[in-house]
Amino acid sequence: MKKFIIAGNWKMNTSLKEASNIANTLNELDNTQLSNEIIICPPFLWLEPIKKIISSEKIHIGSQNCYYQPNGAYTGEISISMLEELGIEYSIIGHSERRQLFYEDDELINKKLQALLKSKVKPILCIGETLEERQQNKTFEIVTTQIKKAFANINISDLDKITIAYEPIWAIGTGVSATKEQAQEVHLFIRNFLNQFYNSSAQNIKILYGGSLNDKNAEELLNMPDIDGGLIGGASLKIDSFIKIIQIAENISLG
Ligand code: PEP
Repeated sequence: MKKFIIAGNWKMNTSLKEASNIANTLNELDNTQLSNEIIICPPFLWLEPIKKIISSEKIHIGSQNCYYQPNGAYTGEISISMLEELGIEYSIIGHSERRQLFYEDDELINKKLQALLKSKVKPILCIGETLEERQQNKTFEIVTTQIKKAFANINISDLDKITIAYEPIWAIGTGVSATKEQAQEVHLFIRNFLNQFYNSSAQNIKILYGGSLNDKNAEELLNMPDIDGGLIGGASLKIDSFIKIIQIAENISLG
């Protein structure tokens, strides 16, 4: 049975009331029936109140970012131990908005990945190419470089804690998703590359697709053999759409 991860990245959206409404609606899902893992990533300030609302074991909470230092003079940053203290189970790192708008580079993302692997918070590492890079046929080269740099000094024994999200930047928030063939091609490439890099130990690594995934295209994307779930921005804020995507994943899992 294929097991999916369906993750929602709320970005800098929602009032506390809106966030609570989404969390309360997700609680109503019959969690004893859910075979897949659901993750929601609210803004930092809402992590604690949303964590308190969520009562289902199948719904996990993630942050959208973290800093790698344990504490100190890093104004405005949130440490991994702070996330651990709240019981936050996942953290997105390397999202293209962090890379592009906040100048995060592969070296910093590698430090975050290493720090997360020493903690109880599991990383969701985002990678992906720009439109220009795709048009120049550089997609494989870009994801290879991002993976090599992010995975520097990462042990084979930690691989099963890492989730990768392939998010072509040209598909994020644009309404233009990668086609199922385009996404599958890159997912397979990433899996093969990691297997080569880690001597065939990466076959179980989860690779999520992100980029305008919605309730209309979820079925065809999630049916591809190397797509293990989705990292969903806009559609995760529309509770009906998000629930439809969760149900589509369930139907595929149950065959
Ligand atoms: C994202 O923010 O990771 C994302 C994929 O956004 P959207 O689904 O809105 O394209």
